[in-house]
Amino acid sequence: MQYYSTNHQSPDVSLQEAVTHGLAPDRGLYMPERIPVIPKAFFNNISEMSLPDIAYVVANTLFGEDIDSETLKNIVKDTLNFNIPLKHVTENRYVLELFHGPTLAFKDVGARFMARLLAHFNQKQNSEGKVVNVLVATSGDTGSAVANGFLNVPGIRVFVLYPKGKVSPIQESQFTTLGGNITAFEVKGTFDDCQALVKSAFIDEELNEKMILTSANSINVARFLPQMFYYFYAYAQLAKNGKSLKHVVVSVPSGNFGNLAAGLIAKRMGLPIERFIAANNANDVFFKYLQTGEYNPQPSIATIANAMDVGAPSNFDRILDIYGNSHEAITTDIHGYTYDDEAIARTIRDTYRSTGYLLDPHGAVAYRALVKDLQPGETGIFLETAHPAKFKDSVEEIIGGKVSIPSKLAQFAKGEKQTVKIPASFSSLKKQLLNTK
Ligand SMILES: *Cc1c(COP(=O)(O)O)cnc(C)c1O
Repeated sequence: MQYYSTNHQSPDVSLQEAVTHGLAPDRGLYMPERIPVIPKAFFNNISEMSLPDIAYVVANTLFGEDIDSETLKNIVKDTLNFNIPLKHVTENRYVLELFHGPTLAFKDVGARFMARLLAHFNQKQNSEGKVVNVLVATSGDTGSAVANGFLNVPGIRVFVLYPKGKVSPIQESQFTTLGGNITAFEVKGTFDDCQALVKSAFIDEELNEKMILTSANSINVARFLPQMFYYFYAYAQLAKNGKSLKHVVVSVPSGNFGNLAAGLIAKRMGLPIERFIAANNANDVFFKYLQTGEYNPQPSIATIANAMDVGAPSNFDRILDIYGNSHEAITTDIHGYTYDDEAIARTIRDTYRSTGYLLDPHGAVAYRALVKDLQPGETGIFLETAHPAKFKDSVEEIIGGKVSIPSKLAQFAKGEKQTVKIPASFSSLKKQLLNTK
């Protein structure tokens, strides 16, 4: 299968090239040239299948031409070595808990898959043993998922760029204490600055001549596409529990929109989802697009759902592309909501009191939007993208009680923080990258 750039100004490439380069030379995002449809029969016994088995069918449908089935099976199995349970919350509303992986956030899925796929390609092609350098900008959870997903993977170095003072101490400890092949850059600036620095690095000629650079942000197809797996698994779990599958609505807490874009592709592949909800915090660029048809990127605003503080969502072009730029088609399949910090806090507090379910700030945005949008006769799923303990301070303040820290998370805080401090300037980043070679 070939991958094309959403900007259509650079040549189509193989999966390997798309994964290795991340961004296309014309700065567009890679997309599969076809979205194959999975035969309907698959859905007849999906309720009997395990997560890795479902994921393998989906992965094989998309990547089968490019990766032999043994390797792909192993990559999928290795990636998904934790559960992604669907739980009932209230009435016709269910939560898909995506936080049972090593860093307690959904990004573990994409990051672990990408690390294994990249290692596979690297081993196969790059016989001179050249190091592949993974560059990733993070507003919190990406850095930890990518750093942990790639930790000690041979032939790969990871550079995490994060905005100084804008990620929680627990998040920070998950990518600054690992050492080994992981380097953390503490950038004096915002997440958007970090993202812009990474993008500049990918188009800098000198840098690209001297080192192999790739991105592990959701612009990379190997991170973005595996996120489809759990939409299918959520559906399977509804089926297993004998729930109505007629009108399934999925609410996705969105920042860069990689997660939602993967859901849209799952729908294209035949997963019977009626519609999606794009749930945003105060960063409402996509919400406004749904309302007006106009897309105006803005500087990001800091909120308590900080992994969604994105003012220029990098996967927006993929969504346009999936729908052939039709605003009408997009608004048919996607409803949008936006909530400020106060509404998020109120949702966490009220839901905890009335149901006993503790939301994290990101899941809270999705839950609130689902409650608002879901119609009688529909079945709603919202994605819990991180464990509430990752945002311990804000969540404890909101509920006026203690949040216990899972031992996996507590482990990270024990390590020693190591960072390289840089200003938000490309020349500084470039110098650092060339020096670490
Ligand atoms: C990254 C992240 C999001 C946003 O996901 P996108 O794919 O960027 O839209 C939501 N919640 C959490 C906890 C995250 O880490």
